[in-house]
Amino acid sequence: MIAESNKVKDKALIFNIQKYSIHDGPGIRSVVFFKGCPLRCFWCSNPESQLKKPEDMWDNTKKAITTVGEYKTYDDIINEVLKDRVFYEESGGGVTFSGGEVLFQAEFATELARRLRDLGIHMACETTGYASTKTFSHFIEQMDLIFIDFKHPDSKQHRLGTGVPNELVIKNIMYAKEHHDQVIVRIPIIPNFNDSLEVAHQFAHKLNDMHIDAIELLPFHQFGENKYKYLNRDYKMKNVPQLHAEDLEDYKQILEAAGITVSI
Ligand code: SF4
Repeated sequence: MIAESNKVKDKALIFNIQKYSIHDGPGIRSVVFFKGCPLRCFWCSNPESQLKKPEDMWDNTKKAITTVGEYKTYDDIINEVLKDRVFYEESGGGVTFSGGEVLFQAEFATELARRLRDLGIHMACETTGYASTKTFSHFIEQMDLIFIDFKHPDSKQHRLGTGVPNELVIKNIMYAKEHHDQVIVRIPIIPNFNDSLEVAHQFAHKLNDMHIDAIELLPFHQFGENKYKYLNRDYKMKNVPQLHAEDLEDYKQILEAAGITVSI
């Protein structure tokens, strides 16, 4: 299912608004996390973001079960993020939409971004690009900066790892590159999925085909491990060691040999 499925169009299901973030775009930012995702990546570090409905989860700080996800109006979110406007202005920051998958609530997210931009807020997003190109194109018109994931160059493997094929993702990455000048393609490097040097060669070939000459590699981390326990769900990456930049040196060299600029 790729179409937006908002039950309540004047509200969006949000599971967090994280303040003072410095890793999701330039400057100091507030990150709005949309709940609901059409993918099911087996390594997902935000498993509480996947279902598009509120759900119970153990809160280990409060030592109690809490509900993850709350329906919020435009004003709820705008009023909250504007509290930090002075930090955005002083640092060159703004607001980033993340998830889950923000495009799963694309209509609301597009309108919210438009309203925030009208208020002079710099807008960024982190997306899988998994939505119809029409929906995607309207959304990215409201973005100043787009981070988009490319998880596997082979569609069959992409489907095995994420639950969906990659053709639409590739189409939208190419659309974004053609129609927007601030697009950063990111590849999460996941053990037993896309971390082999064979896949690095496949990526190099595919990225050349797509005329993409710069990417970021995101080494696998274990930040989400406890969340699976708190949600009472199985975690396929249990005890799998994290990766670090130095582990990706050979991978990086293969991409660079194909003329691609790589940052980690
Ligand atoms: S796209 Fe992101 S949020 Fe969705 S399942 Fe994959 S890692 Fe999790």
